[in-house]
Amino acid sequence: MFERIALIGIGLINSSIARFVRQDGLAHEIIIYSRRQTTLDKAMALGLADRAETDPAAAVEGADLVILGAPVGANETLAKAIAPGLKPGAIVTDVGSVKSAVIRDVAPHLPEGVHLVPAHPVAGTEHSGPEAGFAELFQNHWCILTPPEGCDAAATEKVAEFWRRAGSTVDIMDAEHHDKVLAITSHLPQLIAYNIVGTVLDVEHVTKREVVKYAAGGFRDFTRIAASDPEMWRDVFLNNREAVLEMLGRFTEDLAVLQRAIRWGDDKALEELFTRTRAIRRDLIEAKQV
Ligand code: NAP
Repeated sequence: MFERIALIGIGLINSSIARFVRQDGLAHEIIIYSRRQTTLDKAMALGLADRAETDPAAAVEGADLVILGAPVGANETLAKAIAPGLKPGAIVTDVGSVKSAVIRDVAPHLPEGVHLVPAHPVAGTEHSGPEAGFAELFQNHWCILTPPEGCDAAATEKVAEFWRRAGSTVDIMDAEHHDKVLAITSHLPQLIAYNIVGTVLDVEHVTKREVVKYAAGGFRDFTRIAASDPEMWRDVFLNNREAVLEMLGRFTEDLAVLQRAIRWGDDKALEELFTRTRAIRRDLIEAKQV
């Protein structure tokens, strides 16, 4: 599909991309850039790329597809750094968990004739780094593209086809809408996990040893989510502030209702909500999302 792919950042997501590109022969050459030499060394030792570069502009030289795969807060600096190396007609895409901020931070710095097609593979794990990736990560998951207005249709289709080759189903939507949807389906649950694990660690009369010893299903699941990369999630919240705050407002209101129901022994209110919430699980199973 491509002559040369440049992967800017080589963590969980971009290393998984490198693996399926290699496996399926989707590019002749893969060039990687990462912030730290140790990450580049690990990636090269894993055979993920043909060449590693410590200068972002050198990494994208001659590439027909460039994929930004660092935490979204790094995108503006990276866009400025790659701009001088981009060839006319190149497609720049990304894998960031927020989309409006990516367009805001990247688009102004790209030279004319370079196409920006933002993408979000809705797939991942709590692990980070080039060792954590695997070629099947994106199979049977959604990949959402948010091409900005006036985006080249052929470039969008090429990125869509790339993700279909990864085994994903592609959906196209407006960046702002994406950020609202993901605020409720991904960002808020992540925030709740960080908060609940933090609260448990702060409860003075329960020792850390007891938390580890008696961790029941619910808490255990939250610790998995809360073990995700701190830099990545810091940037998600700072770059999807409005949508997350809106959803958080609704969440805290609903939590107050539950608090009241428990205080006043309102068994009906509790049972009614717990019955309604069960239904969504069935919907997920039917949609093969679990
Ligand atoms: P990761 O495994 O932590 O790897 C991050 C990569 O970005 C590393 O190569 C790292 O370089 C580099 N990097 C970090 N901070 C940087 C900075 N300030 N400037 C330049 N490079 C920097 O991350 P990931 O999980 O692959 O996530 C990458 C992107 O995918 C994020 O934007 C995230 O929102 C998105 N995403 C993640 C998931 C998920 O589940 N993890 C799912 C969907 C989308 P060094 O190692 O050299 O420091």
